[in-house]
Amino acid sequence: MADALSEDDILEAVARHVGRPGQGPQLRRTGADITRLPMLDLCIVRCMEARTTRPESRPGTYDTSERAEYEGDLRDHPVDPPKDPEVSRTVELVLRGSVRTVPCGCDGGRQPCSRCRAGGRLRCDVGPVCPACEGVEPCTWCDGTGERRKDRAPSESAREKSAAGRTACVKCRKPRTACPECRGWGAKRCPKCDDTGFRVCPVCSGERSTAHDPCDGTGLVTLWTGGSVGQAPDRSSLRLPAPAPPLRFRQQAGRAGAWQRVTLGSAGAPLPDGLDPAHLTAVESALTSRRGEVARRVDIGWLQSAAVTIPDDPDHVFYVFPGRDGPEVVPIWSRRRSLRVAAVVAGVVVLVLLMVALV
Ligand SMILES: [Zn+2]
Ligand SMILES: [Zn+2]
Ligand SMILES: [Zn+2]
Ligand SMILES: [Zn+2]
Ligand SMILES: [Zn+2]
Repeated sequence: MADALSEDDILEAVARHVGRPGQGPQLRRTGADITRLPMLDLCIVRCMEARTTRPESRPGTYDTSERAEYEGDLRDHPVDPPKDPEVSRTVELVLRGSVRTVPCGCDGGRQPCSRCRAGGRLRCDVGPVCPACEGVEPCTWCDGTGERRKDRAPSESAREKSAAGRTACVKCRKPRTACPECRGWGAKRCPKCDDTGFRVCPVCSGERSTAHDPCDGTGLVTLWTGGSVGQAPDRSSLRLPAPAPPLRFRQQAGRAGAWQRVTLGSAGAPLPDGLDPAHLTAVESALTSRRGEVARRVDIGWLQSAAVTIPDDPDHVFYVFPGRDGPEVVPIWSRRRSLRVAAVVAGVVVLVLLMVALV
């Protein structure tokens, strides 16, 4: 079986790796040490469900027939979990017998217009002063009054202005006397209110009221008790052993290891036989059913690997795992070697610092 390397298999794989094929038994005699290193990779996706009820309402006469009904306590109503526990969804239900359409309580679907305070019109500015003549001498002959002002002789500057650009005055009808912009008015007419000082309210178009929002202007609302069943995935995982073995070994074993895999579809499903006894407690606790859980999918993978040390090569730990074509070996520097290298590096740094200090 791919997941059960014997001690002989393991030692022979190391012997071959160090260039001594066939000398597995000899490694054992010279004091090789084998530590079993069962690995486990477990992912669990739970479908978690939450149920709530609340009063609901819609404007007018509303058809709830597209929603399924429930009776009595929402907790007792059967709702299937999604086939795939990764799927998120919400099922909306209606309490049987709770739907009723009632008067809104407003005034026939209308509410007073808030913009004009039910007045139907808004105050408006009258025409602003003419920007060209600023209301001063809109007409050089009548001054915007329509009659010759006898107490007031036109100034020299006004006479000069009168020559160019002036137009016929709408008040006194004299040609070439009026400001071309306002034609003698002295102001521009307000286009919104035609200088009346009031304009029609744009919100209610002068009707003093608008449609009541909660009933959409119908005067009716439909009420019912709604039940909501929400289902959403919750993911967690478990990786053993802890603390994790060296990264390079984990990567290589993850890629090339002959992992055994099983998918469990329910909370009561029995665990696979091949799991290492040392992992059972952690696995069982990771798989404990949670409050609100209605479905799950569990993917479990496991690989029986080992860490081997041999007295002949104290600088390495040989990690052995079952690959697809027999055992594979990943040599990793031993702690002893790592410490020695660190010490050498530190020594070099000290030397360099000394030399720098001496120069
Ligand atoms: Zn003007
Ligand atoms: Zn005039
Ligand atoms: Zn106006
Ligand atoms: Zn209004
Ligand atoms: Zn209403």
